[in-house]
Amino acid sequence: MEPFDLGAELERRGALQNGHFRLSSGRHSDRFIQKFRLLEDPRLVEPVARALADAARPFAPQVVVSAAVGGIVLGYEVARQLGTLAIFVEKEGGFPKLRRGFALAPATRVLVVEDVVTTGLSVREVIDVVRAQGADVVAAGVIVRRQPVEFGVPTLALLDLPFESYDAADCVQCARGEPLVEPGSRFT
Ligand SMILES: [Zn+2]
Repeated sequence: MEPFDLGAELERRGALQNGHFRLSSGRHSDRFIQKFRLLEDPRLVEPVARALADAARPFAPQVVVSAAVGGIVLGYEVARQLGTLAIFVEKEGGFPKLRRGFALAPATRVLVVEDVVTTGLSVREVIDVVRAQGADVVAAGVIVRRQPVEFGVPTLALLDLPFESYDAADCVQCARGEPLVEPGSRFT
């Protein structure tokens, strides 16, 4: 990120919080990412998407594919800057698929984008859906990578932000009696 320090900006926005959090997995962590503090502001999404688009341009993507819901905003803005279509994968009956008449022609060059990647599950699901259409995933672009995940395609990460989580029984913050915060909705 040339124009500004992405990590510092995410902290300033409250997208990256320090504290004592209970993650959706049940594990505890001293950091929490609320990605919608980033995605809610188009003035921040624009330069972040520009960095992803610039990194992805050499791969000549023809369509950007993301995962609903957060990925829709990011995918739209990356695609707008690349001049491509933006489509998204969503769950139907628990399974990821293209709905709404979205389709990919065979051999279409696809850029997969995601905001925050931890296990990489949702990116892998999107890649599988794209390949099932006969299209080619030429790269994956992510804003924040929390674990050194690989997808078997060039992976463009703007910020590597590894952080650890702990079983409640082993949590030093619990041992110190620090109040535990449980962020409201599902988060990554
Ligand atoms: Zn704890």
